[in-house]
Amino acid sequence: MIDLSHIEKIYDSAAGPVHALKDISLHINKGEIYGIIGLSGAGKSTLVRCINLLERPTKGTVTIEGKNITAMNNSELREARKGIGMIFQHFNLLSTSTVFDNIAFPLQLSNTPKDAINSRVTELLDMVGLSDKADQYPSQLSGGQKQRVGIARALASNPHILLCDEATSALDPQTTKSILQLIKDINRKLKLTVVVITHEMQVIKEICDKVAVIDKGVIAEQGDVLDVFITP
Ligand code: ADP
Ligand code: ADP
Repeated sequence: MIDLSHIEKIYDSAAGPVHALKDISLHINKGEIYGIIGLSGAGKSTLVRCINLLERPTKGTVTIEGKNITAMNNSELREARKGIGMIFQHFNLLSTSTVFDNIAFPLQLSNTPKDAINSRVTELLDMVGLSDKADQYPSQLSGGQKQRVGIARALASNPHILLCDEATSALDPQTTKSILQLIKDINRKLKLTVVVITHEMQVIKEICDKVAVIDKGVIAEQGDVLDVFITP
């Protein structure tokens, strides 16, 4: 489903090159919830951004559903990205748009007809439990509600993959639980492949099937969550 093969990422910075990812190979199966855990600076954000090519790997290939996306031109890549939704730690909502318009945004960008947008957004609002918040603005919502909007927006174009970049790190433990539960429900219901990056063990234990531990740009360990983290 998702294959990363010998991914390397070097950033050029004023202080010299930064070797953020050294040699990362990962295979993520369809329908899995795959966790990537590591300390701050380990390379997690860089890695997850290499999966949708928000960041271009310096070396290596990213293959998604059999297609080598590292070899695609920009218009092919734009199309492929519709199959990959992403949610963020700080939600990244448009503050001057309503909940409805935030979720509709990716559909408007792809020129979806208005009727189709209305019915799709209504369905998504229901899926994330925010049917009564359509006309509110992000500033009127709690953190958990904002992330629900983020999830609905990420699912708007019917992706096969959901990338979660520290999606619960700004939330309190109770809200974290409910967002993780929602992600799990969506994973089961839509057969979505989910990649979760986090620095929190709780997140891995709560919802992930498989896990990779990343340290200083390399995978230190990977496998089934139960094998990698044996609870005493
Ligand atoms: P994590 O998400 O695990 O905190 P990151 O992927 O953000 O790690 O960062 C990995 C390393 O790459 C860090 O040393 C970070 O400072 C560096 N880095 C990340 N983005 C950039 C960038 N745009 N330019 C230069 N260095 C970067
Ligand atoms: P996160 O909370 O995901 O770890 P960061 O605060 O590390 O985010 O990074 C925020 C943004 O700054 C990212 O786009 C990342 O690529 C960039 N960045 C991180 N480290 C550096 C760095 N050392 N030099 C330049 N840009 C960086």
